[in-house]
Amino acid sequence: MRPDEIQRRATELGPWVNGFEYDSVTYPRDTQVAPPRVGRALPFFDVFPDATRILELGALEGADTIRLASRPGVTVVAVEGRADNLSRASFVLGLHGLTNVRLVHADVEQFDLRSLGRFDVVLCTGLLYHLQRPWDLLRSIADVSDGLFLSTHYWGDADTTFDTEGYVVKLVHEDHPEPRTRALTETTLWFDRPSLLKALTDAGFGTPQVINERVAPSVCDIVLAARRAHQTVAGEQGTSAGPA
Ligand code: SAH
Repeated sequence: MRPDEIQRRATELGPWVNGFEYDSVTYPRDTQVAPPRVGRALPFFDVFPDATRILELGALEGADTIRLASRPGVTVVAVEGRADNLSRASFVLGLHGLTNVRLVHADVEQFDLRSLGRFDVVLCTGLLYHLQRPWDLLRSIADVSDGLFLSTHYWGDADTTFDTEGYVVKLVHEDHPEPRTRALTETTLWFDRPSLLKALTDAGFGTPQVINERVAPSVCDIVLAARRAHQTVAGEQGTSAGPA
């Protein structure tokens, strides 16, 4: 596609949350759009070098999707809750000639991930703190994958949290300045750090590998990799199942 045609299509599909780069040019040109997104998944293949079947949740406009799908041998299923974000992702993926991606328009709090099959690793960045029942998503992820790459906020101020369903959480009203990166609901629940770890354990993941963390008085960030302990295959060692 010629640059003018790319620009025309990009303008039609906009406004964009972030611009995108193609052939060393940033599109859409001549606008105030934010620069291309530096995805949070940069260390993904350092941690999961053998991942070939990947499920991405909250794909936005496909910035990380392109990065994952550009690796030889990889296939990606990318789920996104906003149709307009997904149509921009679809355009950029097509532009890059990436045919190894399936895009799914769904709310991860309503949709049964098991209908998508099984995956080596789930990439979940910038999404867990946009949910009303984040512990359910971690369990749904564990249903379809033994690996999880998670980048999320958690809440650091113990004075403003409360207990629900066995977790300590903060009620947050969504007010991110960019509405198209927000939750699909007006309020969300953020874990505190111990509850995030508990929810991972409850979902069957082992002690996570913390890749990066920023601790602050209220809004904290963490990037981690978690793996489910492998179930022993029935009969392999004469027993039915190993530890979860
Ligand atoms: N993963 C990207 C984008 C994070 S922004 C990154 O880390 O840079 C959060 C994205 O999740 C937005 O695209 C938003 O539309 C989507 N999203 C929010 N709630 C969702 C839900 N319940 N189901 C599916 N997608 C959701």
